[in-house]
Amino acid sequence: MAKFDVIVIGGGPAGYHAAIRAAQLGLDTACIDKWLTPDGKPVFGGTCLNVGCIPSKALLDASYKFAEAQKGFQDVGIVFKDLSIDVPTMIRRKDNIVENLTNGVAALLKSNGVTTFEGTVVLHGGRKVEFTPHTGKTETLEADHVIIATGSVSIDIPPCPLVDDIIVDSTGALEWQSVPKRLGIIGAGIIGLEMGSVWNRLGSEVVVLEALEEFLPIADKQIAREAARQLKQQGMDIRLGTRVTGSKVKNKKVEVTWSDAEGDKTENFDKLIVAVGRRPYTEGLLAADSGINLDERGFIFVDDLCNTDAPEVYAVGDVVRGPMLAHKGMEEGIMVAERIAGFKPLVNYDCIPSVIYTHPEISWVGKTEQELKASGDKYKVGSFPLAASGRAMASNDTVGLIKVIADAETDRILGVHMIGAHTSELIAEAVIAMEFGASAEDLGLTMFAHPSLSEGLHEAALAVSGHAIHIVNRRRNQS
Ligand code: FAD
Ligand code: NAD
Repeated sequence: MAKFDVIVIGGGPAGYHAAIRAAQLGLDTACIDKWLTPDGKPVFGGTCLNVGCIPSKALLDASYKFAEAQKGFQDVGIVFKDLSIDVPTMIRRKDNIVENLTNGVAALLKSNGVTTFEGTVVLHGGRKVEFTPHTGKTETLEADHVIIATGSVSIDIPPCPLVDDIIVDSTGALEWQSVPKRLGIIGAGIIGLEMGSVWNRLGSEVVVLEALEEFLPIADKQIAREAARQLKQQGMDIRLGTRVTGSKVKNKKVEVTWSDAEGDKTENFDKLIVAVGRRPYTEGLLAADSGINLDERGFIFVDDLCNTDAPEVYAVGDVVRGPMLAHKGMEEGIMVAERIAGFKPLVNYDCIPSVIYTHPEISWVGKTEQELKASGDKYKVGSFPLAASGRAMASNDTVGLIKVIADAETDRILGVHMIGAHTSELIAEAVIAMEFGASAEDLGLTMFAHPSLSEGLHEAALAVSGHAIHIVNRRRNQS
């Protein structure tokens, strides 16, 4: 029976980070994954690289370039004639990026000395790992430590079972070879808004049916309001408070029935994306004697250090509590590997950045105003509209704002919320500041390059105590 110091089950971002870090620390490490591409090739990289973060961003970037060329370039004096989109080329480019990156992860695992196995695992008690390769015989491997990183899968809803390439989940929506004329999306969450943006920019008429009455409740209310305004202006028809009751595929089109406060309704679409969330994936993983427990929502139960209920077995990434974000899983994987090697790192769950890659991008870290109100904490807010940023004007993209929330007494930054171009990059500055326990004044005393969008964060931090330079002083104007 082959024995390792560490076996990692799952080679997505949480798993491959854990495996590489464990191997870097001198532990004899194996990483096992069962993922097969549609043409049957085993690959590492999990959801993120194969059907998640990377392919969706490849399509978001391509479609944004098209939308800019169509609507944004004229303002700066660039005129195109006969602009068109070649969807198969766009999809092929996305596939090439995915292939490059998944090959890259396999090479990284190998170059760090991680032993890789391609196939399916069942985990038994005593850290016995039953491994069945894609072709070949089942064998049992053993390890002193096991890290589970088996990720998540899309949630299905009974009224809308998936049908071929007509009713699809996010994976199917990354594969279409032409632009659907009318596209329905169930769920105005992150996937709904990102995939809706892609196809809306390419010319689909997009209708989003969201069950909740509130739009993007996870984001700061002010930012969510601005996001709704911008996305509606771009042509996305977002209908809140809707309950989808059924779907029928006829003549390669889909009829969706739903109800809202006004009553029952029917709508026809060429394609439908079901994007109502993801659930932790442990199907077939845990033998009866594994000693691992799930919580009431099906996540593997872990403590703050990712220990499961079984000794020396840990779980990280989407399969455990917390936001289903690649970078959260990566940091958990690294923390667990380092703790196995005898170090004592922690994951700071208060400083996890979130980004929705629409245009404008919606990015935040820390507490929202509504959360602080609910907990009764006293806070102050400084915000800066990007319309007042010289760099935003120069690049013809002035939509959005940056908002810093600080503790009313200590001035410590409690949350930063942004909507605007490139905020997926700008939010890192806020994460670093918060990780170092910065006050709004600390950010105000920091020098930012001019002209740059990050000056907006500087100004918002100054605005917390009323010192922003580029905001009109209304009180003085009135006096
Ligand atoms: P996964 O990436 O799901 O990997 C789990 C791996 O475990 C898989 O490869 C699977 O084959 C393997 N596995 C499962 N069971 C077994 C078993 N029994 N035996 C062997 N192997 C097994 N997050 C972001 O942070 N930013 C984004 O921009 C972003 N965009 C996204 C876009 C889309 C369309 C989707 C669907 C998700 C997106 N996410 C994004 C979420 C992100 O993909 C996940 O948070 C991340 O992939 C979770 O990593 P993980 O390693 O925990 O699990
Ligand atoms: P989500 O939780 O973000 O959004 C799902 C939405 O569907 C919610 O607004 C919910 O109220 C709604 N909904 C649920 N059931 C419904 C129903 N029956 N009818 C209508 N609406 C319904 O989930 P998602 O968009 O599927 O994304 C899954 C996860 O993947 C996210 O939580 C996120 O963590 C991750 N992800 C992250 C990124 C990113 O970081 N940029 C991108 C894509 C996905």
